[in-house]
Amino acid sequence: MKTILPGQTIGIIGGGQLGRMMGLAAKEAGFRIAVLDPTEDSPCGQIADYKIVAAYDDETALNELAKMSDVITFEFENIDYEGLKKLSEKAYVPQGADLIRITQNRINEKTEITAAGAPVAPYVSADSFEELERKIEKVGFPCVVKTAFGGYDGKGQMKIDSMDQLEEARSLFEHSSCIAEAFVPFTKEVSVIIQRGVDGQSYCLPIAENIHKDHILHESIVPARINAGVTEKAIEAAEKIANHLELIGTLAVEMFVLTDGNILINELAPRPHNSGHYSIEACNVSQFHQHVRAVCGWPLREPKLWAPSIMVNVLGEHVEPLQKEIGSYPDWSIHLYGKAEAKEKRKMGHVTIMTDDLKKTLEEIEASTVWFNK
Ligand code: AMP
Repeated sequence: MKTILPGQTIGIIGGGQLGRMMGLAAKEAGFRIAVLDPTEDSPCGQIADYKIVAAYDDETALNELAKMSDVITFEFENIDYEGLKKLSEKAYVPQGADLIRITQNRINEKTEITAAGAPVAPYVSADSFEELERKIEKVGFPCVVKTAFGGYDGKGQMKIDSMDQLEEARSLFEHSSCIAEAFVPFTKEVSVIIQRGVDGQSYCLPIAENIHKDHILHESIVPARINAGVTEKAIEAAEKIANHLELIGTLAVEMFVLTDGNILINELAPRPHNSGHYSIEACNVSQFHQHVRAVCGWPLREPKLWAPSIMVNVLGEHVEPLQKEIGSYPDWSIHLYGKAEAKEKRKMGHVTIMTDDLKKTLEEIEASTVWFNK
């Protein structure tokens, strides 16, 4: 384990908004940033000191990144596991490659969550549609069939209500093996972002309550409107998983809250998470600062929330109306990620609003023309 100091270089695999915000946090302390991303003008590339434009699995590019970086981290999980493993033999990758192997594959992920002693919905895994047909009765209907690899924002998954409808899930196997899990009639979705240092000390950020629209995160409300019992279960589950994985860095644990106050883990992300963006303004340590501390071998800080907050995502279709409304809302902290093309549904930025009256601020958001067509 090493301590990485300001003036040294943090290499980031992936040049999206998470890399950008990680990089901005690191630059405040005086680190240098190197980024590997296939696009010339990536959000992180715009703020990085060194930029390598190449595919994530390009061996020469990874070697170049290794040469210029004192520590390497990543901003997303869909990177080539074998490539990262090789890289970790010649560069300092404190998070390790195993975290990626587990979290990029839903079957591995569910196996490890279960091994950690944290609860998941009943599920089966299948390598072929025929295997799914044979096993599905263990889960029953309704269920959600999800590809093991590569799904995000609701892509690569289907809700299936009956045996007659199961055939529709056949096409998912063109991508990869799948899991089928029981449909969970949740009351809320929440996420716990847990961060753990090289010394094993971990802290959770205040829990976010997440509201999705069309499978994309729309809004995170912090603190989540859940009682102390649910909070305790959520944190306990996140700690069990982080300790089991011997986490270094960041793990976002997405969970369903049930009517009886129990929780089920939905999925994991081994990186800062959209639902933790509020922490940039609303906490004494943001998820990005804490992540940098963890991978650089610095002691972690206990997070504190300055004020209840709401984070709202800005998708392509929201950018123009947001620009028009900026003058009306001095309390909105605006973050745009520098993406050139404002495509519909593409995450272009977010807004964080700290407030002492969550209900009033939620109404203010509803009343604005940014997210709701009037
Ligand atoms: P995921 O990609 O697994 O995070 O799923 C995206 C969204 O689909 C989740 O945030 C939920 O809103 C919904 N979802 C996924 N799995 C289930 C499930 N088993 N039961 C009910 N809703 C689900």
